[in-house]
Amino acid sequence: MFIGRNGPDQLSFALTILAFILSFIPWNYMYIISFVVLAFALFRMFSRNVEKRRQENSAFMNLVNKIKMWYYRSKTKRQQSKFYKVFVCPQCAQKLRVPKGKGKVSIKCSKCGHKMIKYT
Ligand SMILES: [Zn+2]
Repeated sequence: MFIGRNGPDQLSFALTILAFILSFIPWNYMYIISFVVLAFALFRMFSRNVEKRRQENSAFMNLVNKIKMWYYRSKTKRQQSKFYKVFVCPQCAQKLRVPKGKGKVSIKCSKCGHKMIKYT
C-alpha cells in the first residue's frame, strides 16, 4: 500500500492524534482545522516525495527531543533544588552547586578559583 510512498511516520502519527483531540473541542470551526490537520497527515503518508517528508519528520523529532531534554533537565533541577543551592560565580559566571542547610560556607569556584562566603 505504501510502496514508493512515505508511509506512516512519527509526525503523521502525531498529526492524526492532534486531529483527533481537536475534533473534541467544542468550537464551530474546529472540525475544519481538525480535518485540515488530518488531511495533511494523510497527504504525508501517501506522498511520493519521500526525501522531503523524511526531512520534515526528522525536524519534528528534533523538536520532540529538545522538549524532552528540556523537561528532564528541569525535572533534575527541581529534584536537586531540594538538596543543593546553586550560586553563580561573580567572576566567570560558573554555576556552583553546594549542599543545602550547611549554614555559612566558603565556596571556591572550580573554574577560576574565586572565593566567596555564602549562606546555604
Ligand atoms: Zn569563577
